[in-house]
Amino acid sequence: MSNFRTLDAAGDLTGKTALVRVDFNVPMEDGRVTDDTRLRVALPTINKLRDAGAKVALLAHFGRPKGERVDSMSLEPVVAPLAALLGAPVRFATDCVGDEARAAIDDLDAGGVVLLENVRFHKGEEQNDPAFAAELAALGDLYVNDAFSAAHRAHGSTEGVARLLPAYAGESMRRELEALDAALGSPKKPVLGIVGGSKVSTKLDLLQNLVSKLDKLAIGGGMANTFLAAMGQDVAASLCEHDLGDTAREIIKAAEKAGCELLLPVDVVVATEVSPNAEARVRELGQLQPEEKILDAGPATVARLEKAMAESRTLIWNGPLGVFEVPPFDAATVRAARTAAALAQSGVLTAVAGGGDTVAALNHAGVVDDMTFVSTAGGAFLEWMEGKVLPGVEALRS
Ligand code: ADP
Ligand code: MG
Repeated sequence: MSNFRTLDAAGDLTGKTALVRVDFNVPMEDGRVTDDTRLRVALPTINKLRDAGAKVALLAHFGRPKGERVDSMSLEPVVAPLAALLGAPVRFATDCVGDEARAAIDDLDAGGVVLLENVRFHKGEEQNDPAFAAELAALGDLYVNDAFSAAHRAHGSTEGVARLLPAYAGESMRRELEALDAALGSPKKPVLGIVGGSKVSTKLDLLQNLVSKLDKLAIGGGMANTFLAAMGQDVAASLCEHDLGDTAREIIKAAEKAGCELLLPVDVVVATEVSPNAEARVRELGQLQPEEKILDAGPATVARLEKAMAESRTLIWNGPLGVFEVPPFDAATVRAARTAAALAQSGVLTAVAGGGDTVAALNHAGVVDDMTFVSTAGGAFLEWMEGKVLPGVEALRS
């Protein structure tokens, strides 16, 4: 992790203007922020810069206005909740470049904060137009990226501007990079992965990358059905991508070659419909009735997974083991999550997880704060797990 420039290396910031890319793509309803998690995530960086006497100009996107000003996608509703969290005034500039932005920044005292309007109101943002990046860069003395979740995109405010100013990882970006490095970059071995979720087709790159890096990989959720079917098991009425049999067998071969032990379900929980009132049954493989669907991992599978966790030093997890939204099919995911969290708390396991539904599942299990790190970065987290280069992160490498 030492190879990223962090704010500690930024020198004296008194009176300097820091352009700070944050993720303020918050849930909003009728012009009100309904969840301020992403605002809170940005506070350590903003406060660190304010304490150092810098002016803070915040850059962010909201929604998909596609390069045009769309009033309903203004960032202005973020100003009041952000100011409340900071306990300090936050100015708003109706444009992120040009005279309007310049004047708002000039107007700040040292330690002052301005939120600049949605960068995606300009076509140059998503096109990563050098002229747009230069307009951004003209506003500041340094650039800080605190939005890991946007770092998989080479946009003006995530990559272009980082090439034009001294660029640093913010505190939340630093935390995320450190956690990801501890999970896959230079992890303590043995390393166990869990990949679940609905479909193999959405996670092919992920599976291919992981089998080359992990000591063990447990496959769960709907995608395990595709693997079971590829190995000749009858998965009855389960969700299954039967056309991906060859792909699944290739992944199995690649795992063998790389010395990665695959853990596929040995028993399953089935029902004839996905409903809380459905009668759920535990089945050994080979015992499914034609109308049954596999909706969760069985107890023997979970026990084997818990044993694998206890024997590992690092866990990287994406994707629930079952249809966790509909109890009782949350049981395997909840149980595995609590075991991982307990091992993380006892200090023997570095447990890192991420993914939209995975975060929801860990929340449901009540263990988000007990894992070593839970990434809320969605697409960026997945691309990083797939072994892809994230342009916004590359630009911060020293
Ligand atoms: P993430 O968002 O964390 O990357 P995914 O989107 O890949 O996760 O997968 C989550 C979805 O997978 C959930 O909606 C869950 O209900 C579904 N799922 C898990 N197991 C099964 C299963 N056996 N059959 C059908 N859907 C499943
Ligand atoms: Mg999902």
